[in-house]
Amino acid sequence: MTDPLLVQPTLPVPPLRILVVDDDESVRGSLAYHLDRLGHQIIEASGAAWALELFDRHQPDLILSDVVMPEHDGYWLARQVRQREALSGEWTPVIFLSAMSEATSVADGISCGGDDYLTKPVHPVVLEAKLHAMQRLRNMQRQLQAMSQELQRANVELQRQAAHDALTGLLNRRGFNEQLQESILLCRRLKTPLTVMLCDVDHFKRYNDALGHQSGDDCLRQVAAMLRQLARRPLDSVARYGGEEFALVLPDTPRAGARTLANAITRVFASAALPHPDSATAPHITLSGGFTTCEPGDDVTADVLLKLADEALYRAKAQGRNRFVNL
Ligand SMILES: [Mg+2]
Repeated sequence: MTDPLLVQPTLPVPPLRILVVDDDESVRGSLAYHLDRLGHQIIEASGAAWALELFDRHQPDLILSDVVMPEHDGYWLARQVRQREALSGEWTPVIFLSAMSEATSVADGISCGGDDYLTKPVHPVVLEAKLHAMQRLRNMQRQLQAMSQELQRANVELQRQAAHDALTGLLNRRGFNEQLQESILLCRRLKTPLTVMLCDVDHFKRYNDALGHQSGDDCLRQVAAMLRQLARRPLDSVARYGGEEFALVLPDTPRAGARTLANAITRVFASAALPHPDSATAPHITLSGGFTTCEPGDDVTADVLLKLADEALYRAKAQGRNRFVNL
C-alpha cells in the first residue's frame, strides 16, 4: 500500500510559510516532509507555547496544529493567536489536525478560533485543497483590508475637497460656514471676542473684462495668498466666499485687533500694487471690506454676524471703496 502522504496532489498552491505544531515527532516530520515537497516553507514546533513564540517571530501564512499536546493544547494556541490578531487586524488561518473525530471536538476547535478541523491521518489531496481554500480566504481578507484603507483615504480627501475651493486652495463657502459655527461655539465658551470679516476685490468685473478670465483667476489666487499671509494665526480662517469675495473668521480678536488687520490689508495691497488697468478707485488692485466683532452670546448666530459684516462691506463700497468699515 502506498503512503497517502506521498501521493501527488492535484491543486497547485502558491508557496506558504506554514507553522506545523505537533508533539508527536513522527507525525510532525511526515507532515513537514510532505509540505516541503510541495514547495512550502515549514516551521516546526513540538508544543503550543513554543509555537506561539515562532508565530510572533515568523508571522506564518497558516498554522497546522495538533489538538492534544502536553501543557497547552491546540485550542490554547488558537486563542492566543486570535487575541494577538484582535489588535493587529491580521488573520492567520488555523487548521487543527487531530485523531479525535467527535463532533464536540470539531465545535470546540472552531469556537476557539480555528478555521477548519481535519482528522488524522489526513489525505494529502484533502490537505492541499484545504490549504488552497485558506489561502484564497486570506487573500480576500487582505484585499478587503486594503480596500477599506483605500476607501478611508478617499473619504478623507473627498471631505477635504468638499470644504475647499479648487482655484485658491482656501476654504470654500461650505468650509467657511462650518468654521464659523465652530468659532462661535469656541468664543462663546471661552468668552472671547470673535470677528467676522468679508472683503471684495474692487471693480473685479472690469479687471476680467480688460485682461480676460485667466488673468482674473491668477489675480484671485494672488489675493488669496496675500490674505492667508496676513491672517495666519492658528485659529484664523480665510475662505473664498464666492466669486471675488473673501471671508475671514478670526476667533479671539477684539475690535481693535480687527481694525489693525484691516489697515494692514489695505496697506499691503497698496504696496503690492498689483496693476488694475480699469479701476475707478486706484491703478492697482484694492479691497473693500466690512467686519463685525462681538462676544457671541446665545442669541448670536452665523447669519447675524454675516449680515452685519455684509452691511459693513456695503457701506465701505458706498463710501468710495478701498477701505474697511466695521459694524
Ligand atoms: Mg498530540
